Amino acid sequence: MMHANCKISNLAHACLGYLCKFSINTPRVTGVLYSYKGYTNDFIKMGVNMDKIQNTDKKRMNKVRVARFILRQGETTKQEIAGSLGISMPTVLQNVKELVDSKLVIETGEYQSTGGRKPKALAINGQLKYAVGLDITKNHISYVLIDLTGRIVKKERNRKNFENTLAYYEEMNDKMQEFIDSCKVKQSKILGVGLSIPGIIDLEHKNLIDSHILQVHNLDLDIVSSFIPYETYFENDANSAAFAEISGETKNVIFLSLSNTVGGSIYMNQEIYKGDNYKSAEFGHMIIETNGKECYCGKKGCIDAYCSAKVLSALTDDDLELFFAKLKEKDAVCTDAWDEYLDYLAITITNLRMAFDCDIILGGYVGAYLKPYAIELSDKLKKYNLFENQTSYVQNCRYQLEASAVGAAMKFVDVFFEKIE
Ligand SMILES: [Zn+2]
Repeated sequence: MMHANCKISNLAHACLGYLCKFSINTPRVTGVLYSYKGYTNDFIKMGVNMDKIQNTDKKRMNKVRVARFILRQGETTKQEIAGSLGISMPTVLQNVKELVDSKLVIETGEYQSTGGRKPKALAINGQLKYAVGLDITKNHISYVLIDLTGRIVKKERNRKNFENTLAYYEEMNDKMQEFIDSCKVKQSKILGVGLSIPGIIDLEHKNLIDSHILQVHNLDLDIVSSFIPYETYFENDANSAAFAEISGETKNVIFLSLSNTVGGSIYMNQEIYKGDNYKSAEFGHMIIETNGKECYCGKKGCIDAYCSAKVLSALTDDDLELFFAKLKEKDAVCTDAWDEYLDYLAITITNLRMAFDCDIILGGYVGAYLKPYAIELSDKLKKYNLFENQTSYVQNCRYQLEASAVGAAMKFVDVFFEKIE
């Protein structure tokens, strides 16, 4: 389905609500504007006459809801679908039958039952389709292949210094083809390739407006696409990571992305809170020190100046992995820097907890390394947050370094479910 304001015709702009926000508004580096169920809502908000669409599309939307429910649950039953979604049993039976006939849903066995007929368990047939995700960073390219359930089939991360040359894109595609071959998945089963890039992306014009990290400006993304023999989709790295971490969540949650910039998203009542001007969740530019360190935005004392991954990697020649290796060896400089970093992180988390009163997922480059330091962080949180004596509201990210690649690939899975006929 095409968005009224979007002139672009390939799947890169398959124009679910979340993509449209980018195409009609100023793109941003951080924060997330997609909505898992935003498809219909956004069309209503844009004044599209939904009555007509609803009459003909209600049946299909029910099927999408059923399929998405099965996806989210992993395994479920017809009874559970009917109860949870408030859809009548005959409608559920019809939808499940059609989904099983199309091979999207499989019956995986039977649940134990205390008596009477045993209900069959239903699950998504993950092997029906796959999607590829690439994460381009300054020094690496990550490749992932995920199945229709979002499970990572295979991942690979190669060191490769970015350069804006045809040779680079050619090699990137060659490596990707090798990677896909090694997964032994037929080309026809691949929905597309999502690319995560650290920078401001104008989806409408397929333009990478600016990437401070990659040192490129106004890069025509069609050039990058032309090397890839699949449908492509481009997304900012922080948004991609958040999409991977948040999709499927049923609770309110804050995603705090600790990459080379600090950003995040606010997921509330099953959708992203976007703000009145699409500028919500700019956590990196909340001020935590009066007259503090200079931030790249021009202000002083922003969280970004204290909690971006660069604060740490600057000590080890821009190599974050090396920073954590040195930290493990108890290098004095890294230990001090880490202690200060965790302190500011604890203040940031406490402020978010005070404002939103929900779980907080720590992601991004630093998030991937945080697990072994959970106790240290928890102690600092207890120091700043006197309202609670436990810190289980802080969660580590599900994905490690591959979150952005997974998120970029997951857009194809999301579009696939939204387009179920
Ligand atoms: Zn700032």
